[in-house]
Amino acid sequence: MRRPVLAVTCLLALAGCGSPAAGTARPAPTTTTTASTTSAAPTTVAPPAVTTTTPAPPPPPAKPQRVVVLDPGHNGANAANPGAINKPVPAGRGKTKPCNTTGTATNAGYAEHAFTWDVSVRVRDLLAAQGVQVVMTRPDDNGIGPCVDQRAAIGNQSGATAVVSIHADGSTDAGAHGFHVAYSAPPLNEAQGEPSMRLATTMRDTLVSNGLATSTYIGSAGLSPRADLGGLNLSERPIVLVECGNMRNATEAAAFTSPQGRQNYAAAIAAGILAYLA
Ligand code: ZN
Repeated sequence: MRRPVLAVTCLLALAGCGSPAAGTARPAPTTTTTASTTSAAPTTVAPPAVTTTTPAPPPPPAKPQRVVVLDPGHNGANAANPGAINKPVPAGRGKTKPCNTTGTATNAGYAEHAFTWDVSVRVRDLLAAQGVQVVMTRPDDNGIGPCVDQRAAIGNQSGATAVVSIHADGSTDAGAHGFHVAYSAPPLNEAQGEPSMRLATTMRDTLVSNGLATSTYIGSAGLSPRADLGGLNLSERPIVLVECGNMRNATEAAAFTSPQGRQNYAAAIAAGILAYLA
């Protein structure tokens, strides 16, 4: 007679049947019958009132806001303003350099500044679609500069997780081709050390996995340590400079000149940044 008594007890105190004190008793069913072993028709017991409103789930933990600075090399009005862009500015390591330069071009005249601007806009849009906040060092392709020290300052003041400068090269060796990723070496601060090196190798690996070939003529395995680039020297944030390839090489010039080709470079660079942020 012990079990029926327990069952009846449970019935009288439905809410308690799931507690450890109930021993082997099962969780309270929504509908049950009396546990009498003797008589009477089963009696249906109404389940306790249950609210059907589902409470709102707690908000997910806020992700830290990721800021990436994109630095499109050169600018559209540089060539027409040599006085302004030749003005010496601090370039790090105790040196000065011209404020900025005109950049190079394909043999057909497609300018590096136009290429770097277009690719940077494409990278910006790809990153923004992933929730990354992007800061550009210039607002369009029609201005002068900014000087290399100003570009570095924009990266520093933004608190960027990563700064990526985008360029294309102009080797007179028409056979030279392939990308390389430049980084500051030896590093001048902590951000130029391990974080920048990791950004460089992650970018190199991602560009390779996106089908881009490493440089045949600069650096080693797509990486190039540099002590002479003002933008890298003055950075206090993790930074690399991507030279996408040689604008004087016919195959790469064709890719740079084509919107699809530029989208391919942008997709690879954006993937490299996202891999670093992950
Ligand atoms: Zn350049």
